[in-house]
Amino acid sequence: MEKENVRKEIEAIDDMLSDLFEKRMVLAKKESDLTQQEKFVLTMAKNIRPEDVSLIKKQFNNQLDDLSQAFVNRTNDNSDLFLNNHADFSVFKDSVFELRTLANKAIAQGETNVINATIGTLFDENKKIAILDTVFDCYNAVSNATKAAYAKSITGNDNFNEAIFNWVNQNSNIELHHKTVAAPGGTGALALAFNSFLNPNETVLLPQTAWGSYKVLAKTANLKCDFYKLTDENNNVDLQDLMLKALRIIRNQGKLVVVINDPCHNPTGISLGTENWKLLIKVFNKITENGPIIIVNDVAYIDYCYSDGYDFFKTFNEANEKILFNIAYSCSKAFTAYGMRVGANIILSKNRQTVENTFNAFTRSCRAYWSNINHGFMEAVVKVLNENKDKYLKEKQHFINLLKERSEIFLSNAQAVGLPLFPYSEGFFATIKIEDDALLNRFHNNLIARNIFTVKFDKGIRISLCAITREEAAVLPKILNEVLEASRQ
Ligand code: PLP
Repeated sequence: MEKENVRKEIEAIDDMLSDLFEKRMVLAKKESDLTQQEKFVLTMAKNIRPEDVSLIKKQFNNQLDDLSQAFVNRTNDNSDLFLNNHADFSVFKDSVFELRTLANKAIAQGETNVINATIGTLFDENKKIAILDTVFDCYNAVSNATKAAYAKSITGNDNFNEAIFNWVNQNSNIELHHKTVAAPGGTGALALAFNSFLNPNETVLLPQTAWGSYKVLAKTANLKCDFYKLTDENNNVDLQDLMLKALRIIRNQGKLVVVINDPCHNPTGISLGTENWKLLIKVFNKITENGPIIIVNDVAYIDYCYSDGYDFFKTFNEANEKILFNIAYSCSKAFTAYGMRVGANIILSKNRQTVENTFNAFTRSCRAYWSNINHGFMEAVVKVLNENKDKYLKEKQHFINLLKERSEIFLSNAQAVGLPLFPYSEGFFATIKIEDDALLNRFHNNLIARNIFTVKFDKGIRISLCAITREEAAVLPKILNEVLEASRQ
């Protein structure tokens, strides 16, 4: 009898839950009748959609494993018949691509004063993608037969791997054992790292305000995430939080994988610099008493540093044998060749055997994931670095100077109006720091309403200095500040 009553109560609760879900569906339908722009704003703010229902249910699967049939029927299935248990089949939304579409639509509709500060690609002052002619002259000089052929090896052409390692070691300051694996972009290099070091359900340590793909990479590798802040309460670059989180994880897990996107951190523009790296390596050496550490150093924007971006690698030589470095290098930005999908993972350690083992494991993963990478573009990179370096550097310097000019204009105007930025040093992006999530959402939505398109991150709004003109860099801070102040009310 008691069992029956309990069951009745459960069913009553299920009924209430399904009513709530149904009400939510009606609201979602109403929402879809709103205009495109308004709909987007609401979707982003609420961050929950009808498709997410099954996901929510999945999260509570353990607690709700005997849902009444009525509930199941009214809220669809709680797992996909075909996908594996950890597949996330909610609709994938890439906010950068969506916002870019919205911005282009606004421009096409004849809206004036549209500013598209969403794009992570370097643009010239005519808002056209920046092209380094040296790179494409070299690419065009590669024969069709080479472009058509598979690469010479699963891990990339030897001359490419050597040229990339020499490029990264341009100050001849790396004295560790090394192996290089070509990969499809920095993303491919990161995929190797995310899928090779941790077991399912273990935790990877990521920057809190960070490139969104890290979380997607972690999720598809079935990893949990923990996050570290890069600044303290006075908005200075600070490594305390990183060190504390690293210690906590390595004590619990007996191993640490940490992602450090430096120099030119996306989205804040922070570069840690050699002294901070020295300190980090010292602390990491100490905590390896709890287990091994893999430092995944994402250097996607290193070639746009305003001064020598390659100096800090010398600090890696101080790492002990229990530390392994994975430098994720991207040819997308360095050679303005985002669509060519070429990059590399450089494995470094004092421990020769672990470098060999990692290389062998990576080789298998390359074969399984993508087989081999773009042969023609690897050849082009070799031609650029070995035969046309000076010409290439001169061309690239023009764009570094342009980026620097834009950043100086933006920063000085931001300072004049008191816009709260993360401490920008260099690189493609600067970010307005906002701790209050509700304010962050309101601010972002209000910017869209003003036809200012930016990307929302955890604790910040990113401005793509790489994609706005000097003129836009000059006018933006005042508008941003006005909208921010209005959003506070
Ligand atoms: N890392 C960061 C921080 C990035 O912003 C990007 C690209 O936007 C990448 C890595 C990887 O770029 P790709 O895969 O195009 O080389």
